[in-house]
Amino acid sequence: MATHLHLHASSLPTGIVTRNRKPLSLTFISDKNPSFSARPASAPTLKAAVLPSVVAAVSTAVDGAPPVSASPPKTLPFRVGHGFDLHRLEPGYPLIIGGINIPHDRGCEAHSDGDVLLHCVVDAILGALGLPDIGQIFPDNDPKWKGAPSSVFIKEAVRLMHEAGYEIGNLDATLILQRPKVSPHKEAIRENLCKLLGADPTVVNLKAKTHEKVDSLGENRSIAAHTVVLLMRK
Ligand SMILES: [Zn+2]
Repeated sequence: MATHLHLHASSLPTGIVTRNRKPLSLTFISDKNPSFSARPASAPTLKAAVLPSVVAAVSTAVDGAPPVSASPPKTLPFRVGHGFDLHRLEPGYPLIIGGINIPHDRGCEAHSDGDVLLHCVVDAILGALGLPDIGQIFPDNDPKWKGAPSSVFIKEAVRLMHEAGYEIGNLDATLILQRPKVSPHKEAIRENLCKLLGADPTVVNLKAKTHEKVDSLGENRSIAAHTVVLLMRK
């Protein structure tokens, strides 16, 4: 059982989340911004996995620098986020990109299903919201996520986005892999991504490129993805 510490909401810095009783329950804490839903005044709990960055942000002043502001997030009309992910490719594993199984001689060895695209889209959304990254929210040493479909992570990121009062403005993702060719699967991947995000197909773009046969990406030993997302206030 993970250790839980109790922090009062007003002591949390910008964008800090709390994890409540249920593993996937994450909530923005703000006592000033009505657009962010706040739990009742009872002290929220933070799971140990998310906690280190929180504690550091609250209490650390590096080399005499002023402590990090504890004010609630600003209500911005737009928020931009970037995500990056990379996975090693190994024979004997399925290659799943954007929730679609792509025929290949190897796939991602990962704790979850190793979906590089969905992971980096999740990180882009979390980043735009000012939240901790996917590894902190869904720790890879937690058996609960072993073999989990990455759609679980993306649905939670989308839920957090709506809870914070935002929707997808547009999203642009780039896959980097040497093989196989993505073009025959691109529409299926993009379509599924739109479905998972609940986004209009006109605002979700997917590109793919090789790595010119250099480095692990170019030698079919890894796969990577970048995502930039713009969130708009609803
Ligand atoms: Zn990943």
